[in-house]
Amino acid sequence: MQDNQRRIPTLAELTPRPGRRPLLPALTSRQELALLCRTLHREGYDDHIAGHITIAEPDGTFLVNPWELAWDELTASDIIRVDAAGQVIEGDWNVTPAIGLHLAVHQRRDDLRVVIHNHSRWGSVWAAAGRIPPVYDQTSGHVDEDPRLYDEYAGTVDGAIEAEAAADALGAGKWALLKNHGVFIVARDVRQAHLRAVTLEHRCRLAWQVEVLGGGQPITDPASLRVVRMSDQLGMPFLWEAMARREIRFDPGVID
Ligand SMILES: [Zn+2]
Repeated sequence: MQDNQRRIPTLAELTPRPGRRPLLPALTSRQELALLCRTLHREGYDDHIAGHITIAEPDGTFLVNPWELAWDELTASDIIRVDAAGQVIEGDWNVTPAIGLHLAVHQRRDDLRVVIHNHSRWGSVWAAAGRIPPVYDQTSGHVDEDPRLYDEYAGTVDGAIEAEAAADALGAGKWALLKNHGVFIVARDVRQAHLRAVTLEHRCRLAWQVEVLGGGQPITDPASLRVVRMSDQLGMPFLWEAMARREIRFDPGVID
């Protein structure tokens, strides 16, 4: 089969049928960030109030979830704005002391808008083990590179030196496990960030379950994952929209 027959179409290529309702209402960056927190909390990014997501804005400022609120309770109006030094310039809440980790990455990577850090439920298992989870199924293969493993963890990533070192270790990578700490994911937009975060947690969960069961045969043939590897670059059609709609359905106030 030819590559062009196997390629996943982009959303732009999938012409909506006349009269079809929109997949999502038009969303602001604040609404997208709140929905990303809610969707990922449901996937396993649920270590109480830990974790932060930044979105780089065109004016050089950054949107980030507040320190005080859990990912499953915050709304769009709770999202705060910080300047390039990490100082709050808009919003009623405090910013996490670990904002430096995000700013260090944003400074190095103008190719991306979204940076995610959390101590996700299954990602943290592999981070604690200091191992990269094998790919055991197609859903684990939506990102075409292994996570980096950053093993210089010195207690926190709150300090400037630690933040700079972690950002350096990520380099041009898409995602990383922070040894004995948690996960780190970067992306050019919310859709790609969602797919990478969901893929990492699924890959970690499935690999853990397979190993508990006694082991399996990882997928080692890259060609067999050709189709899903493309989804990371092109965006997985409809997935983000469906998961965001679910959150709005459960709590319409999330976008207020
Ligand atoms: Zn952390």
